Amino acid sequence: MTSTMPVVVRTVADLRARVAGYRAAGERIALVPTMGALHAGHVSLVEAAKAEAARVVVSIFVNPTQFAPTEDFSKYPRTFEADLEKLSEVGAEVVYAPTVDVMYPQGFATSITLTGPAAAGLDDIARPHHFGGVATIVAKLFTQCGPDLAIFGEKDFQQLAVVRRMAVDLDLGVDVRGAPTIREADGLAMSSRNVYLSAEDRAKAPLLHQVMQAAASAIRAGGAIETARIDGAMASGRQAITAAGFSLDYLECRAADDLGAPRSGAPLRLLVAARIGATRLIDNIAV
Ligand code: AMP
Repeated sequence: MTSTMPVVVRTVADLRARVAGYRAAGERIALVPTMGALHAGHVSLVEAAKAEAARVVVSIFVNPTQFAPTEDFSKYPRTFEADLEKLSEVGAEVVYAPTVDVMYPQGFATSITLTGPAAAGLDDIARPHHFGGVATIVAKLFTQCGPDLAIFGEKDFQQLAVVRRMAVDLDLGVDVRGAPTIREADGLAMSSRNVYLSAEDRAKAPLLHQVMQAAASAIRAGGAIETARIDGAMASGRQAITAAGFSLDYLECRAADDLGAPRSGAPLRLLVAARIGATRLIDNIAV
């Protein structure tokens, strides 16, 4: 295991110079976009990237345009030095940590309009501007870095679908890959926002995963996918989540590829978002 600290670059020109050097040496480059406050979930993405590419660039940028004014942008956890330590252990070569001015130059006036998976009626309902902000920043990261591939967590399943669609639609030339969700021992999906949970809410949080597991086995039981069985599993799942004191945004069963209604033969995905205390948790699993 290497423990060399990654090189930190803060401008597009410096990033491109680094990447050009790697390209000149014929090396493949993977990008792992993050907002920092890194945990084992992020580290697993970097490991997946290392398995695919000689050089891994990790971006750390808390993107203001994907937060609503009521959300946690200013108090989002920022742990840059600890992040660098974790990335040194896993062997990421470059950390790209631009300032807001680099990403949004004076007069910035361009945005990406999304339909399809970005309008699936899931996180887009509670966070109507979120995916526009994500798509804009990811498109910029892709064009700034020019990686061969980029790795995103299945933890943010709708985001992964949006980015995949965008990369194809805009010919961004980046192979978008998903990587599995890393969980705590009790099943809670790791998230930088878990630090907000009170001890009491932390104890309740694994319920979301448990409910999805129960719903997935209820849907699978009996073989062929039937709408009535899906509806029944969703109704009892929603009831269990609400009864435990969560404020439920959604629990849905969707086609895994485009996040539309379940189709026969299409892999299915369960997706949930719920608030407990002041914290909003999201998670999903395959059926
Ligand atoms: P974030 O810093 O929360 O924007 O996440 C950066 C990347 O890490 C995204 O692609 C996330 O989907 C991914 N990620 C976040 N949590 C996890 C997790 N528990 N397991 C795997 N990937 C994750």
